[in-house]
Amino acid sequence: MLRVRFAPSPTGFLHVGSARTFIFNWLYARHNGGTMVLRLDDTDVERNSDASVTSIFEGLRWLGLGWDEEYKQSERLGLHRQVAEAIFARGMAYRDFTPAHAGESDKSAQGAWLFNPGMRELSREESDRRAASGETFALRFRVPRGDGRVLRFVDAVYGEQTKLADEVEDFALLRSDGMPTYHLASCADDADLRISHIIRGQDHLSNTYKHLLIFEAAGAEAPTFAHLPLLVAPDGTKLSKRRHGPVVSVTTYRDAGFLPEAFVNFLCLLGWSPKNDRDFLTMAELTETFTLEGVNRANAVVNFKEEDPFDPKAVWLNAEHIRALSVEELAGRLMPFLQEAGLAASVEKLAQVTPLIRERIKFLKDASAAADFFFVEQLPPYDSLDLIPQKGDAAQARAILTEASAVLGTAAFDHTALEAALREAAGRMGLKAGPMFQPIRVAVCGRKNAPPLFETMEVLGREVCLERIAQAIASLK
Ligand code: GLU
Repeated sequence: MLRVRFAPSPTGFLHVGSARTFIFNWLYARHNGGTMVLRLDDTDVERNSDASVTSIFEGLRWLGLGWDEEYKQSERLGLHRQVAEAIFARGMAYRDFTPAHAGESDKSAQGAWLFNPGMRELSREESDRRAASGETFALRFRVPRGDGRVLRFVDAVYGEQTKLADEVEDFALLRSDGMPTYHLASCADDADLRISHIIRGQDHLSNTYKHLLIFEAAGAEAPTFAHLPLLVAPDGTKLSKRRHGPVVSVTTYRDAGFLPEAFVNFLCLLGWSPKNDRDFLTMAELTETFTLEGVNRANAVVNFKEEDPFDPKAVWLNAEHIRALSVEELAGRLMPFLQEAGLAASVEKLAQVTPLIRERIKFLKDASAAADFFFVEQLPPYDSLDLIPQKGDAAQARAILTEASAVLGTAAFDHTALEAALREAAGRMGLKAGPMFQPIRVAVCGRKNAPPLFETMEVLGREVCLERIAQAIASLK
């Protein structure tokens, strides 16, 4: 049975890189008919925060993909201790009574701390005696030393990985406060939850040697590992909130008006290449085509700029996904953004407006600027000079608007009839479409750049159009 997990630590907001890890796990599970586990790695009590838990769930819910099982490490501490004790009982761990990394130490060739010989070689009797007397200790893994053992695994993305056990430090399993370390808790849970594939960020690649040692000492079979390339900024630095700001947080994309499916599509292209080399992919297509073989080793660059926080590809994909939605679906997604902008849009009206603006917006949020004039009683003030056609004058603009007003007073109010009637009027006045329609457009929309005029007027209705044209005529006096 294929089982994967996404295991965030609630020590910050949901990072875009974590979101991608979640998505790749999810796709791998769905592609293979497996199970997706969400596990909160919340044993680091000092760094955990409720705000972070909220932010992670908020981000994941927004992605809208869901998961099958959910666990919290803090509710599984008994299991972690049991595993630590079993490893200790087998002599594969020892008590370390020194404060972290203090005292005499043995160092690797690179000078890194490896272990305190005094503690590693403490007799069991002495160790038991000191523990019984109430001295606090950390429990450390007794990494095999001196026999030249090579730790080895085949990463599904990075291929064969090897390291001399002698180069791995005697890492802690339990801290001196009795809490499990990430390494212990993670492996104990992965074994207990029967995780078959661990798909996670490349920054954990080197931890895997320790994890292999834990699985082995705990008598559990190690899962398959697949590490994902890092997300980096254009300058090659690892994406971080401290350095790069809000562009690193999933909710920034949500609040800017990304569709979750577009965001997911974008993240999938960071470090994974679809076989058919297409960029636009629906959830169904992603699920069908996702494989670990398609995951790249090279770091993936998120192309943001200081003045433009979103990668152009993300923006393009968002516009594509917006256009791929049905009018009804898109209207439903736009509604909260219009409400937030203080525009009182009815469902019926928005359903009429949506087809007129869908080609004109890149973000859901753009809808308020693109369509506000449909939903306000009074147009915001605009420059009445905009009513005057190029090379024309105020008198001409007035004449056009007066004629338009007469036509709109009697024409049938659907866009085909309106177009025919206004083109006829242009003919009578000896005007081309451009100069004829500009004053009308500005009068009814309050701007030069607006959705298709006749459809727009149809949605606005006769009364509103006539009133706005009358106001425009007055403003030209
Ligand atoms: N809690 C760890 C993290 O957020 C999980 C790493 C892993 O997947 O093993 O980095």
